[in-house]
Amino acid sequence: MTTTDATTTTAGSHAAGHFVPENLPTRIQHYIGGRFVDSVSGRTFDVLDPVSNQTYATAAAGQQEDIDLAVAAATEAFENGPWPGMKPRERSRILNRIADAIEAQDARLAELETFDTGLPITQALGQANRAAENFRFFADLIVAQADDTYKVPGSQINYVNRKPVGVAGLITPWNTPFMLESWKLAPALASGCTVVLKPAEFTPLSASLWAGIFSAAGLPDGVFNLVNGIGEEAGDALVKHPGVPLISFTGETTTGQTIYRNCAANLKGMSMELGGKSPAIVFADADLDAAIDSTLFGVFSLNGERCTAGSRILVERTVYDDFCARYAARARNIVVGDPHDPKTEVGALVHPEHYAKVMSYVEIGKTEGRLLAGGGRPAHLAEGNYVSPTVFADVPPTARIFQEEIFGPVVSITPFDTDEEALALANGVKYGLAAYLWTGNLTRAHTFAQAIEAGMVWLNSHNVRDLRTPFGGVKASGLGHEGGYRSIDFYTDQQAVHITLGAVHTARFGAA
Ligand code: NAD
Repeated sequence: MTTTDATTTTAGSHAAGHFVPENLPTRIQHYIGGRFVDSVSGRTFDVLDPVSNQTYATAAAGQQEDIDLAVAAATEAFENGPWPGMKPRERSRILNRIADAIEAQDARLAELETFDTGLPITQALGQANRAAENFRFFADLIVAQADDTYKVPGSQINYVNRKPVGVAGLITPWNTPFMLESWKLAPALASGCTVVLKPAEFTPLSASLWAGIFSAAGLPDGVFNLVNGIGEEAGDALVKHPGVPLISFTGETTTGQTIYRNCAANLKGMSMELGGKSPAIVFADADLDAAIDSTLFGVFSLNGERCTAGSRILVERTVYDDFCARYAARARNIVVGDPHDPKTEVGALVHPEHYAKVMSYVEIGKTEGRLLAGGGRPAHLAEGNYVSPTVFADVPPTARIFQEEIFGPVVSITPFDTDEEALALANGVKYGLAAYLWTGNLTRAHTFAQAIEAGMVWLNSHNVRDLRTPFGGVKASGLGHEGGYRSIDFYTDQQAVHITLGAVHTARFGAA
């Protein structure tokens, strides 16, 4: 199965140093009820690659009527198709076949993802395999799942009848698009829901690969539907559609607030994974070598376009100068270049609009902190959305680069003297997604971890996840937690069924 019925560009080539994958689609369509289709209106939008910033494809621009068709197909599959009523083991087999298919084509997936997003190829490959792992994980979870039963001796048994909620609306961002889509698709499908996915408009390429993967794995037509389009059009229509009882959204906090308001009219279930400005706190008693490796990776991997990036580093003053000098030297040494080159550590930012935003923060940073590394475009890369890994030291907590999510390869470093000051700095932003603590002191590590306002805390590590654990943020970083059974809980209703055993005492109204 091809991604579209489109013509494609010519073979994988490095024209003028710019790698173009083989058979690159030039036209990206919706996928509704098992068929690739254009928008009813015929409207499209341009898709750029972040190295040349040239249009390489047009994508169907979904409107209300396309969302209506997709929701109708998903509703039909939910109400009359086999998927919601299948035994968990049968669904699990299909989910495992999906994981196998992703693994079998991980190189192709990574190549397309890298071309579309600018993510370094080695990291895109890791994300593709992570997507497979998400499907395998939920395939295992649903066959192992047991629901609660409560016995009241002699009078009642109560049990939970878990049911898929219906048509799930999934709205995803452009950073690691395929992997983040899998994070929603896997639990939604595992739960027996049918779905309408609206991927980010900057990066629609890899999403259309799901159609072929799902179809070959045996997912019935209509269970998965894809509508491309602009957030304020296709995304908005999905959020407001009365036939979609829940929305799982990952993206910016301000978009999440709009969606929250728009879900209110139909009282929809919502899961919100939003922005972050996560602290990495380095105490003087930490293993500094490990802390430097990890805090560099934590903000410069995925081009810094990472919700859980440790983009504020707080360092105890007694090791501050040493840490800053060593950190900056390493940052200056990071390999920035062609995202398809396996040696590249930081590639091109996703889109010229985002590049302009990140560059504006680099300029703001020059007025707010002391520039130690980077500070603009790398000299050897005249074109493309490249930003040198940028390090600012002595950044006060009032600075915009301390408070606001930049979502690029830019980090601020701030000194502290006491644990109390470190905690106040760590918690002194509106976000609360992740936190990273570096210390050799066990008591301090746990005391600090428990006081920090973050949905997830890592001790002496960057972001390494066990898929069973809760994922999500507090404060402006999100609402609700996903991960493991929490995701299954989101996509299912837990109906309580009460069974009477023996006589029930009933007040006999009207019998006197
Ligand atoms: P975004 O909010 O601009 O867009 C996300 C999605 O929402 C896109 O598909 C977009 O088309 C859609 N959208 C936009 N307006 C909409 C509307 N009015 N109604 C419905 N849908 C709408 O976010 P982005 O720029 O694509 O992604 C970057 C952001 O995502 C960052 O803030 C990052 O921190 C966040 N993020 C969070 C997590 C997490 O798990 N917490 C993970 C990855 C990214």
